[in-house]
Parts: sequence; structure tokens; C-alpha cells
Amino acid sequence: MHQLSYKRPTWAEISLSSLVDNYHAIQRRLPSGSQVMAIVKADAYGHGGIECAQALDSNGAPWFGVALIEEAIVLREAGITKPILCLGGFWGGQAEYLVNYNLTTSINRIAAAELLNAEASKAGKRVDYHLKIDTGLGRLGVSYNEIHEFALELKRFDHINLTGVMTHFADADGEDRDYTLLQNSRFNEAVTILRNLGFNPKWRHCNNSAGVYAFPEFEGNLVRTGGAMYGLKDAMATESDNSDLKPVMSLRSRIIMMKEWPAGVSIGYGCTFTTNRTSRIASIPIGYADGMRRAFSNNSYVLVQGRPAPIVGRVSMDLTTIDVTDIPEARIGDEVVIIGEQNGAYISAEEVAKRIDSISYEITCGITYRVPRIFLTS
Ligand SMILES: *Cc1c(COP(=O)(O)O)cnc(C)c1O
Repeated sequence: MHQLSYKRPTWAEISLSSLVDNYHAIQRRLPSGSQVMAIVKADAYGHGGIECAQALDSNGAPWFGVALIEEAIVLREAGITKPILCLGGFWGGQAEYLVNYNLTTSINRIAAAELLNAEASKAGKRVDYHLKIDTGLGRLGVSYNEIHEFALELKRFDHINLTGVMTHFADADGEDRDYTLLQNSRFNEAVTILRNLGFNPKWRHCNNSAGVYAFPEFEGNLVRTGGAMYGLKDAMATESDNSDLKPVMSLRSRIIMMKEWPAGVSIGYGCTFTTNRTSRIASIPIGYADGMRRAFSNNSYVLVQGRPAPIVGRVSMDLTTIDVTDIPEARIGDEVVIIGEQNGAYISAEEVAKRIDSISYEITCGITYRVPRIFLTS
């Protein structure tokens, strides 16, 4: 974005020190010999992919994980030389980028292995990949009961190396632990089958954030954590003690207009809110094009002077209106907190997400390019 956006009275603060502290907190929970793959897909869940990856890189993160090849290329171009896994695999025409940028992909299908092998052979290289196994998520990955056949087919490719094997849990945050235990045992069986066929996957990984906190004992030497690193806890089991994690992002704006209205005046598009008393209504320059969800209309609140100010009327593309009648000292220029801490009061991404039947991940990922990220290092 243009430099001018840095003067915008709407911004997200990203605490890189909290990010790094969370990374260390996760690392401390792992059995010895196991390491963190820092998941930085979707611009690090909206926190700023390059800056977060660089902070984690210089604090020892050995692996990075993204969803898309394009996300991996952005990191390579920003100077990240550590291994990067493209979790979502690749599509025809993209294999050459995996080879040229030295990226690791997951493989789900023989056709993909075929393409990667051909591209690697053309470049005269051997390329690593991780085999993804579907043990019960029902999404990507080779079905756990077809591993034997699949692995036999993999043997014919001589320019690609199976260096990792992975699976992804459906319900590691669920109350019922049995499904995750079942997935894990299918995963362990698949690893045994691969070994018996002569494969020797150096990296074995199944846990995500929820898994690390609920099933720290699972076999493997990598965990793929995103949410926990960003201090987002609502995709974790409620009973897991995750008090070692701190929030990383706060989202802030300022009051740019303030009006006093009598009772009976309607505010915003659709006339969905009418004042029922003499009211002071403030406008803040953040709207749904910034990631201020329209579903917050008449349904959530922000902080002003450390106190709750309800969002009234519809959130529009660029602006939101809030009721500051009960905060008489509120003035134009005052900071408004949408997510984060102010004068000892706190609104979490988890809490605002809950109001619109979502999760914190969707809130932070949804904060758009218009909102400058300000990176704090202490
Ligand atoms: C996004 C993703 C993760 C990270 O999940 P968190 O809940 O954020 O820790 C791990 N593995 C895969 C395959 C993913 O797509």
C-alpha cells in the first residue's frame, strides 16, 4: 500500500515480540526432537506474512508452511531460505515454481507426483515432497486405506524424494477425543506401511495448534501451528491450558466525527438504528472493506476511553458509527479499539468472532490490505 496509508487513523498493531514468545511457548510444550513449522499462510492469518516470517526466522523457526505457492514465493523473495511447505499442493502449470524456488509441496495424487517428477527431471534436480494422508478429515490427502497401493506407485519416480509424511486432524479441539486418537492411529499405521516399503520420511507431522495443546504426546517431529502462534485460542479445546499464549494483533481506529442527536433520529443505511434518547454518535473510519464485518451492525461494541461503545446502525464499506453517549469525555481524535487492550479493558478477536458466529481466525484473516500493519518489536 501507499505510504500515505501509514497516516490513516485506522491500523493494526502486530506485536512481533508476543509472536516470538508464543512460538517459544509452543516449542517448550513439544517432546524433545520435535520442532515447530510456523504456519504463515493467508498473510500470517492477517498479521503480515513477511514480517512475521522474518521475526520467526531470526528466532530459530526451522520450517514455514503456507497454503499457496504464491505465498511461498513472496517469502522466498523476502529472503526466507528455510524450507517452506505448500500445504495445499499445486496445480498443473505450477510445478516449475516449486522447482525454481526450492519449495516443498504436499502430494495427494499420483498425477501430481507425475508432474513434479517430470519438472524436476527437466531441471536435472531431485525435489522433496511430503505425502499427505487423509486419516479422516475427508479433504485433501491420500486415503489412509489406500496408502500401500499408492506408495508402490510412488516408487517409479526417480526425481522426487518422499522426505515427509503428514495428516491433518478434523477435531483436535473437540470434546470427544476418540476421533483424533483414531486419526492418529491411522497415521501411525500409514507411516509403518511406508517404512516397510522402504520409504524413510525424515519429517512426520500431524498436530496443529489444537493438537499440540490437547495431544502433546503424539508421535512426530514437526507440528504445524498457526492460530496458537498468533495467540488465537478459540480453535482449541476449551479444557486445554493455553495461558502461555498472548494475543499478537490489535485493531485500532480513531473518532473522526461526533454528533449529538435528539431521540428519534435514524443512523446509517437502511435506518436500522433509531436513537431513543439524546445521543452522541461518533463515526470511525473503518468499514467492511477493511474487515470490520457488516454482521457487527447493531451487534457488537468497541472500546473508547477503556469503556464499551456499542456499534449502532449498519457497518458500511468505509465507516462505522458508535454510540458514545455514556462516555461523555469522548472526543474527536480519541483512539477506538476494535480488538485489543485499552486502559485495562480488553476485547479479544475470539469475543467479537463469537458475536457473529465465527472464529478469531476468520476475523484476523479478514482484515484487508487497506489497514496498515504497524509492527512492534517490544
Ligand atoms: C492451516 C493449517 C494448519 C494450522 O492450523 P492451526 O489451527 O492454525 O494451528 C496446520 N495444518 C494444515 C494442513 C493447515 O492447513
